[in-house]
Amino acid sequence: MTPLESRIRALIEANGPITVAQYMAHCLGDPEHGYYTTRDPFGAGGDFVTAPEVSQMFGEIVGAWLVHAWRLCGAPSPIRLVELGPGRGALMADVFRVARRASDFLDAISVHLVETSPVLAARQAETLTQRGTGIQWHASFADIPPGPLLLIANEFFDALPIRQFVRVEGSWRERVVGLVDDRLAFGIGPGRLDDGPDAPGGSVLETSPTGEALAATIARRVVDEGGAALLIDYGYADTTPGDTLQAVRGHAYADPLARPGQADLSAHVDFAALGRSARSEGAAVHGPMTQGAFLLSLGLLERAGRLGADSDGATRDGLLAATQRLAGQAGMGMLFKALAVTRPGLEPPPFGARI
Ligand code: SAH
Repeated sequence: MTPLESRIRALIEANGPITVAQYMAHCLGDPEHGYYTTRDPFGAGGDFVTAPEVSQMFGEIVGAWLVHAWRLCGAPSPIRLVELGPGRGALMADVFRVARRASDFLDAISVHLVETSPVLAARQAETLTQRGTGIQWHASFADIPPGPLLLIANEFFDALPIRQFVRVEGSWRERVVGLVDDRLAFGIGPGRLDDGPDAPGGSVLETSPTGEALAATIARRVVDEGGAALLIDYGYADTTPGDTLQAVRGHAYADPLARPGQADLSAHVDFAALGRSARSEGAAVHGPMTQGAFLLSLGLLERAGRLGADSDGATRDGLLAATQRLAGQAGMGMLFKALAVTRPGLEPPPFGARI
């Protein structure tokens, strides 16, 4: 039994079953034993690989998008460059590489990283030493000082706690984690969702109150102060029932209730819900579009060609594999989506392009 499982069991024994959202929050963020709090989960030796870890091309294209979005907004200076959940810092390092070619952009930005994990914050500081001391870390988006901002979040919203509801006798009842025969088990709790759609018995519907509230806060900030936000994650474009809570450990799917705190827990992102939240604050929402279409329209193939031009065969094979993984259907190309939030009236490419 993991140390966190003992703690969760004690909580359940004392107060009764906990919601899926509470379970997820404990597993990922427990200050002592949480998954992200205690480790660097990335890379071949870790649990999973994210797009910036696949290839520098991902962060470079995102960087070019951010510089372009900044110009579209009228190049406000100063502006805050914000990343939510920067992992090992690879994406931001690649953004800096592109930004070096836009010195007015570099002069305008102050860099703010939102990270709760001390292990990963230390890792980010190591990766981003070339930026010197100009980086500030914050525990939450709410702590970012005022002013216009450019925000990027890759594989961040999937780590925010979701609630799950199960269709039972014509109503949506909250799924909980309790103890059955002295083991952690899913069950049905007293909570209800009153305004959900009709669905066959046993269906699961997910809501993401934390993610939706954060999308609304980001949108309000963009509307009030200017700038743009780009959210990239795996998820779906329409709100539909389905159980997407997943655990990953050592690059394989695992039981979400096994080894709490030692497996990554995540859920697919409901981009329709994030878009609704952002629109409700008066922001313009662009997309979602697939990551494949997003990267290809912004020149992924051309970038791979340029990087491969003077390289050996092995490097070129690596670039081809990375391109397929980032943009291909069998890789991240279809499942992952990109969504942008701006003030009304702005049309950041490649959203709206016909591809
Ligand atoms: N964006 C990175 C890492 C994605 S993993 C990449 O693409 O490689 C999720 C990241 O979000 C980790 O850095 C994790 O520590 C951080 N994180 C998770 N939940 C968080 C929260 N509630 N607040 C701030 N950071 C969080």
